[in-house]
Amino acid sequence: MTTKKLYLESIEAAYLKEFTAKVIAIDEKKIILDQTLFYPLGGGQNWDLGTLNGPNGAMNVIEVRGRDAIHHTVEDIFDLSVGDEVTGKIDFERRYAHMKMHTAQHLVSGIAYEMFDGVRTVGNQIHTEQSRIDFKPIQFNEEMLTRLQNTVNDKIQQGLEVTDSEMTRTEINAIMPEERTNMDLLPSFINDLRVVSIGNQEDLCPCAGTHVRNISEIGGIEFIGKKSKGKGTQRVTYKLNI
Ligand SMILES: [Zn+2]
Repeated sequence: MTTKKLYLESIEAAYLKEFTAKVIAIDEKKIILDQTLFYPLGGGQNWDLGTLNGPNGAMNVIEVRGRDAIHHTVEDIFDLSVGDEVTGKIDFERRYAHMKMHTAQHLVSGIAYEMFDGVRTVGNQIHTEQSRIDFKPIQFNEEMLTRLQNTVNDKIQQGLEVTDSEMTRTEINAIMPEERTNMDLLPSFINDLRVVSIGNQEDLCPCAGTHVRNISEIGGIEFIGKKSKGKGTQRVTYKLNI
């Protein structure tokens, strides 16, 4: 069973707020649709919230998970059957914050790699109010974080376009070091990837998340915390600063 991921069809598709779909399976309060705009938890990005409006009323979506079949968990399920049509609406304020935070993460990770001797991004968590990135190996001091923040904010001011495309592993690795894109961590059987590019391939990252169409939409970022996670890993937390 597979759900078509409407939010992934293009950069523009991430801006869509409403869709219709058919119910293909129900498991208690989990609803599986043939297609969806709801982003499921994954790649560090949190799930979307919103509503599914069925024949018997609007149901609040409280959790979205899954890879092939996407499960929309609702607060209360109102007499729904397989084959019913639903209208979905996503909470766009929350989604748009994720889009900005996520695109900012690409910028911060790429610029940190260039600025600090190939430091790797080993994890990230994208939320609405604040997000975090784990870097390794690094020991940030205030001066380093200020320099990174200023460079990221200068880049945001350049207003570069964000685009997506399908690329092969070989094509990606020919443009960017595989330690920067984390391509070296990807299972070898995966060859074709959705790649998110900033500017004229100034930054390239295989990613299935949602992003803004122009980095100027991020506004700016501010680092609000750092802490050591041991073994040379440091976690930095940032918020949007608009
Ligand atoms: Zn991404």
